[in-house]
Amino acid sequence: MAKSSYNLSEGRVYIHKTCKQSTQVNGDDFAGLCNPFSLCLGTVCANCGGPRPLKSFVWADTKEPLNVYRKRLRKKVPPFCTHWFLWISPLIGLIAGSIIGPLFLKKSTFLVISGSALAGMVIMVLFVGPKLLQLVVPKKYYKWR
Ligand SMILES: [Zn+2]
Repeated sequence: MAKSSYNLSEGRVYIHKTCKQSTQVNGDDFAGLCNPFSLCLGTVCANCGGPRPLKSFVWADTKEPLNVYRKRLRKKVPPFCTHWFLWISPLIGLIAGSIIGPLFLKKSTFLVISGSALAGMVIMVLFVGPKLLQLVVPKKYYKWR
């Protein structure tokens, strides 16, 4: 895969298929848009506002739809990342929660254990997991064409 010279300050331009207008995205928005593991359901058009679905935008230089681009990037990362999101991270949260919860509440009824296991899983999947993964694989997705 050809590495390009995209950078955060200049960003990249995408085109809204509906109105054919281009929008330049840069900075954190650009990084988030390109990171297939950060939640992104849509983006904005400089002309129409938004957010609009990713599939209604294409990159100006490659003509690739943004949703296809993100799916493609997701396949490029090591399988570990996918496993991490599918079950490793939730499992760690589940186990950690079921241990920490009862210790913290000084109760170990089934309700406490299952409740804190669930809470641990949610915290892990939504907040801690993605951050940990970034430490392991600090990929700059936006550099990829
Ligand atoms: Zn538009």
